[in-house]
Amino acid sequence: MEKKIIYVDNAATTAMSDRAIAAMQPYFKGIYGNPSSLHTVGQTAKEALDGARRKIAACLNCEPGEVYFTSGGSEADNQCIRSAALQGAKKGKKHIISTAFEHHAVLHTLKKLEKEGFEVTYLDVHGNGLITAEEVKAAIRPDTALVTIMYANNEVGTIQPISQIGKVCREAGVVFHTDAVQAAGHIPVDVRADSIDMLSLSAHKFHGPKGVGALYCRKGLPLLTFIEGGAQEKGKRAGTENIPGIVGMAAALEEACGNMQENAERLTRMRDRLIDGLLKVPYSGLNGDREHRLPGNINISFEGAEGESLILYADALGICLSSGSACTTASLQPSHVLMSLGLPHEVAHCSLRITLGDTNTEEDVDYMLVHIPEVVKKVRDISSLWDDYVSGKIKHIYDK
Ligand SMILES: *Cc1c(COP(=O)(O)O)cnc(C)c1O
Repeated sequence: MEKKIIYVDNAATTAMSDRAIAAMQPYFKGIYGNPSSLHTVGQTAKEALDGARRKIAACLNCEPGEVYFTSGGSEADNQCIRSAALQGAKKGKKHIISTAFEHHAVLHTLKKLEKEGFEVTYLDVHGNGLITAEEVKAAIRPDTALVTIMYANNEVGTIQPISQIGKVCREAGVVFHTDAVQAAGHIPVDVRADSIDMLSLSAHKFHGPKGVGALYCRKGLPLLTFIEGGAQEKGKRAGTENIPGIVGMAAALEEACGNMQENAERLTRMRDRLIDGLLKVPYSGLNGDREHRLPGNINISFEGAEGESLILYADALGICLSSGSACTTASLQPSHVLMSLGLPHEVAHCSLRITLGDTNTEEDVDYMLVHIPEVVKKVRDISSLWDDYVSGKIKHIYDK
């Protein structure tokens, strides 16, 4: 018998949708042209490229000419942030505002800019994983070149007040970039209504293919050339376009945006059932605001049950989840996101992230509600950290 697998790590990546796979199929062999070629085969590929750009623009409420294709969310973050920073520096503006709990694609780009002489203010997120537009406003200085704040967090799922932040930035004349990788296709994203100047997204987070993403750059705002070479993407990113990937991404985003409300309602129901059920485990607490939260995100700390052990025991039962962002699981550092919420080291270390997606069912929720509390108990039984709680050496921060 094949082992039952419940994949609930959709913030790390998602399975591709059938529609996206079907949309890509013709572009591997039948329509394999290079969009830069002037003949029929090339021009058919060019039409697919233009069509994909129109679809993505429609989902974001921007113009097709404001959409640039990239290799994914990380590249889009790098290009947007470096571009806005270096343009600002030309006018003597070398200050950037961000938060401590951004994705590493943003944080490491900022670290590099700091080495190049930029100054970055990292706003403290509140214990609920949110910041306010007023806090952004108070941090803006005459030399601020850029504000970069994620739309929704990949670990704790909190959704920032993006339209209010966008308004503050627009009024101050500061470029506003948002990493919308976890938001696009999941919750409404409207770059005009939200006053967003630059945005990053990635196909594999909304049931599209891996290795392809897009950025939005508001018309009139200069964009740095990220890869030198041919004239693709208006000369901003050279290289023959990944046509199957781009077509698959557009199909996946169109599908996700078309089913958004229905999907969000379904996931929210399952999410809330899981949160309520798992919080019945003694000494557990939810991380991130309960209201302003992605439909599929559950992040809970279980005191005295180490995240790595929880993952391994859950995996043995066919439950695939994570304890932080996929990138940090190789190290024993607790997640920078959970630490930024002010959690003690030992509690941040004992957290689980469950992220639901289109493929999950109510039966999956039932299965997890039975087995995850058992897994927590098993891990506590062998944990010396748990012994420290029992002996009173470490004080509980959550109720029984
Ligand atoms: C996954 C993710 C990224 C990186 O996207 P890739 O396409 O994997 O490079 C960036 N930001 C956030 C918030 C993410 O969740």
